[in-house]
Amino acid sequence: MINKNIKIAIASGKGGTGKTLLSTNLAAFISEKDTTLLVDLDVEEPNDSLFIKGNLVRETEQYKMIPKWDESKCTLCGECTKNCKFHAVVQMGKFIAVFNELCHSCYACSELCPTGALPMQPHKMGETTEYQYNNLKFIESRLMIGEEQAVPLIHKTHQLVNEHYSNITLQLFDCPPGTSCPVLAATENADYVILITEPTPFGLHDLKLAVETMRQLHKPFGVVINRSGLGNDDVEKYCLSEKIDIVTKIPFDKEIANHYSRGELVYKKVPSVELALNELINYLKNNIINRSLQGIEALK
Ligand code: SF4
Ligand code: SF4
Repeated sequence: MINKNIKIAIASGKGGTGKTLLSTNLAAFISEKDTTLLVDLDVEEPNDSLFIKGNLVRETEQYKMIPKWDESKCTLCGECTKNCKFHAVVQMGKFIAVFNELCHSCYACSELCPTGALPMQPHKMGETTEYQYNNLKFIESRLMIGEEQAVPLIHKTHQLVNEHYSNITLQLFDCPPGTSCPVLAATENADYVILITEPTPFGLHDLKLAVETMRQLHKPFGVVINRSGLGNDDVEKYCLSEKIDIVTKIPFDKEIANHYSRGELVYKKVPSVELALNELINYLKNNIINRSLQGIEALK
């Protein structure tokens, strides 16, 4: 059996550009006709669940492996502190301290310890919660307070999606903002990335960084302009000059902010948002989904 899905990531160079607005409304809108999966990978601050109220399906505690110091076996040789690239294991006098939040679970210290004094043990880093909302399956991953490593939880979430949701063709991933490691982890499996931005100097600055990142990753991508009409047209000029598709624009409208602030799905209340979503879906169908489905057929 061929398990091929169409994975679409929704990302932005900075927070506050409308990533949650687009992810939740797009997922709910598509799921009115087709079964859809929405995954909130903004694990440090997931908030799609403010808008998607589904029935709880399952809660899973997520663990990463970290070393635990066994004083009785340690000779204080210093191999572990020398080999940890992340400064997560430090010698303090006659003690070896492990900083769980900094540990990347690379196993180096544990494997290089000559006396086996750093066995790897599970450490809880967060939780994944799965919901069902009519035709929409929704997964939220949340990092525990104090945990600093988003990437292992994002990888665990991808794993869960592959294990339990491979039968859902269309999968949407709400990514963390920015251009650092969590975004790379969140978009690594994506067939297409939607970069959402706003027509302001800050929006353009961060869009350029996001575009640079996507080009380095060789990911196909397009741009959605949120709050269109609010600022200037520099984002549009930039996309034109860089031959980047502007897939749709969501107009600036105070009604959108009003409904959004009440935790409502906006496309049901503001026709211009529904129009923008339709334009986006048609673009995805014509340029991404149909081509991918043809590719899947050809593989059979
Ligand atoms: S490598 Fe092992 S034995 Fe050496 S200091 Fe670290 S924990 Fe102790
Ligand atoms: S597992 Fe890797 S990152 Fe974690 S403390 Fe050991 S060497 Fe450092």
